[in-house]
Amino acid sequence: MESYILVADFFMKNFSRFKSLLAIFPAVYFAFFAYAEKEKTFQKRATRIIGSSYSQSSQSFSSEYLLGKFIPASHPDFSIIPEKYSTKKDLYLRKEVLAAFQQMHAKAAKEGILLKVVSATRNFSDQRKIWEKKWNGQTLVSGKNLALTVRNPVDRAKIIMKYSAMPGTSRHHWGTDIDINSVSPSYFETQKGKKEYQWLVEHAATYGFCQVYSEKGASRSSGYEVEKWHWSYMPTAKKLLQEYQTQISETDISGFLGAETAKKMKVVETYVLAINSNCN
Ligand SMILES: [Zn+2]
Repeated sequence: MESYILVADFFMKNFSRFKSLLAIFPAVYFAFFAYAEKEKTFQKRATRIIGSSYSQSSQSFSSEYLLGKFIPASHPDFSIIPEKYSTKKDLYLRKEVLAAFQQMHAKAAKEGILLKVVSATRNFSDQRKIWEKKWNGQTLVSGKNLALTVRNPVDRAKIIMKYSAMPGTSRHHWGTDIDINSVSPSYFETQKGKKEYQWLVEHAATYGFCQVYSEKGASRSSGYEVEKWHWSYMPTAKKLLQEYQTQISETDISGFLGAETAKKMKVVETYVLAINSNCN
């Protein structure tokens, strides 16, 4: 009982001091509360920005765009890749894809890995040149002139399509896909290539990139051979693939040598849609 009296006495004697403290507490409390609220809003905004750049694009794409029938250099959504990031001049990417690659490039560089784009957007006419040179034997495929050695059109198309897409069916048309460091399978068997590939396997997804042409097997049943160099920016590419599926049929794939094989080979189902099921 005595102690209560002592405490009460102490409180009464020092009331004026407590009074000023009581005035300070609410001020401190509200300042802290305001700070916490501001911090929460900032976090929410940051999540929204990151979320929107990694969530699927809501943009619509025309069938012409999906088939690569446009000029990247004059398209408002595209930017030229600065020299620092590529091995060639005049390579283009969609702006959001370039921004994501630049971030990935910076992170890799900090860890001693150099990532360079060796191929990016190729439109229909670029792809037609690559395809027709292989078709007519001007470019040898595995050391062979296919025009002379493979007379059956479907068989010839299948050989070309181990690594090269038919014009109108390439993901390189979209500005979302890049080839990194080399397009030679043997490069990725070297120590340097293995290290770079391993880094991409561990980190590319953080930046929205996925290896769409994975090893054929559980995650992919048909289509191109494995391409350790080909990485796709999924936030935009996913939407493009969905639109491709609804807007494009094999009859739209025409205007180049050997185009009649598109339907016979069911290229949309067997190649365009045959990507790594873990890419989403
Ligand atoms: Zn590629």
